Amino acid sequence: MRSDAVIIGAGVIGAQTALQLLDRGLTVTLVDPGPPGGEQAASYGNAAWLSSHSVIPPSSPGVWRQVPRWLRDPLGPLAVRPSYLPRALPWLWRYLRSASTPAKVEAIARALRTLLVDAPALHAEVAAKAGLAHLIDAKSGLMHVYTDRAGFEAEALGWRIRRDLGIVFEEIESEALAERQPDLSREYRFGVFVPEAGHCRNPGAYVAGLVAHAESRGARRIAARALDFRHSGGRLGAVVTTQGEIDCGTAIIAAGVRSGPLAAKAGDRVPLDSERGYHAIAEGDGPGPTTPIMVGDRKVVITRLEQGVRCAGQVEIGGIEALPDWRRAEILKSHLVAMFPGIDTSRIRFWMGHRPSTPDGIPCIGAASGVAGVVHAFGHGHIGLVSSARTGRLAAQLATGEAPEIDLTPFSAQRFS
Ligand SMILES: Cc1cc2nc3c(=O)[nH]c(=O)nc-3n(C[C@H](O)[C@H](O)[C@H](O)COP(=O)(O)OP(=O)(O)OC[C@H]3O[C@@H](n4cnc5c(N)ncnc54)[C@H](O)[C@@H]3O)c2cc1C
Repeated sequence: MRSDAVIIGAGVIGAQTALQLLDRGLTVTLVDPGPPGGEQAASYGNAAWLSSHSVIPPSSPGVWRQVPRWLRDPLGPLAVRPSYLPRALPWLWRYLRSASTPAKVEAIARALRTLLVDAPALHAEVAAKAGLAHLIDAKSGLMHVYTDRAGFEAEALGWRIRRDLGIVFEEIESEALAERQPDLSREYRFGVFVPEAGHCRNPGAYVAGLVAHAESRGARRIAARALDFRHSGGRLGAVVTTQGEIDCGTAIIAAGVRSGPLAAKAGDRVPLDSERGYHAIAEGDGPGPTTPIMVGDRKVVITRLEQGVRCAGQVEIGGIEALPDWRRAEILKSHLVAMFPGIDTSRIRFWMGHRPSTPDGIPCIGAASGVAGVVHAFGHGHIGLVSSARTGRLAAQLATGEAPEIDLTPFSAQRFS
C-alpha cells in the first residue's frame, strides 16, 4: 500500500491536515482505530470554543501555591490523582516553571496568538468548502462571566496581555449582562465579551464531516493503530500499523494524547500528558446561554450546541488508563443547574476525554528531528479545536516543503530536549 502522506489520527487536527494536503495535490491516507468524530477523541467532547483569544497558558505565576489543594481535593477544578503523582511529577514541574513569571506568560501568549489569530474565519472557510457551514458560527463572540468585577480583576494579567496583543473586549455591567444573558443566574453581575471569537455547533459532527469530505475527495481511511516508522538513512519509508505497512513520503503525527511514543520513535521525547476533562450535556432546548460563556469562579465553559447545553471543564491529572471519575461530571451538572435555573437535566449525558497537553500549553508543530519526512502536529491541550485550522495548514506546508506561514520556533518539539 502506498500514499504520498499518511496522517496518524483523525481527530480535528488530522482531519484539517488531510484537507490541506489534498488541496496541495497529495494522495492521503488517514489512520485511526476509532471512528472520525467519535467519543474516543478529545475533538468530540470539547467546549466548542473558537476562542482566538485563548492565548494565556493554563499555568500561571504563583500557581505552585495551589499544589497542596490539587492533591487534597480530588474533585476540585484541577486535581492530581495521588496514585499518578510519581509519573506526573516531571510534567508538573515543567508546568509550574513554564509560566512562573509574567514575562513567560507574555512570551507564550505572543506565540499562541500567531497560531490563533483569525481562527474563526479560517474555520468558516474550511467548513464552507466541506458543506459544513451550518456547524460554524464565526461571529457569535464569546463571553466570560464573573459574580463581580473583582473576579475579572483577579485575571488582570491575562486581560492586560490580551489587550496588548490587540484583542478587543467589551466590559458588561450587571443590567446589560442580564439583558444579554436572560437565562443566566443573577448571581453573575459582570461580563467580558470578546467579539472576534466564535464557536462550533457540534464538534463531533464537524470532525466526522471534515473526514467524510476528505474521503469524497479521494482520501483513504484505514481503521488501524500506527505503531512505528520504517526508515532508512534517516528518511521515512513507511508507517507501520496494526494492518500492515503504508509506504509514504511524509507522515503527520496527529494522534492526540497518544502521540508521545510515536514522536519518540521519530527522534523527539516530548513531555505530553493528559489533562483529563469532562462534560455534562443537558439534551434538548430550554434555558441556556445566548452566547457561550466561560464562568470565572467555576472554571467551566457552557455552550449551547445542536444537541443541547454542554458544560465542559475540569482538569484531572491521572494519566490515560484510569477510569473516569463520574462524580466530576455530576459536578458539571450541578454547575449547569446553578448557572441556568430551570434547565431541564432529565436527559443528561456525561463524557470524559484527554486534552493532549504539553506543560507550557504550546503545541508541537514542526519537523521531527530523527526521521526526515515525519511532521509533528500534536499537543494542542486546551486549544486544539480553535487552532486546528491553522495547524492543518502548517502541517501541510511542512510536509510539502513550503515555508510555514508563521514562525514555528516556539512550537518546536525540540524545545524540551
Ligand atoms: C473538556 C474539554 C474541553 C475542551 N474545550 C475546548 C474548546 O472549547 N476549544 C478548543 O479549541 N479546544 C478545546 N479542548 C481541546 C481540544 O478538544 C483538543 O485539543 C483537540 O480535540 C485535540 O485534537 P487532536 O486531533 O490532536 O486529538 P484527538 O481529538 O484526541 O484525536 C486523536 C485521534 O488519534 C487517534 N489515535 C490515537 N492513537 C493512535 C495511533 N497510534 N494510530 C492512529 N490513530 C491514533 C485517536 O483514536 C483519535 O481519534 C477541550 C478539551 C476537553 C477535554
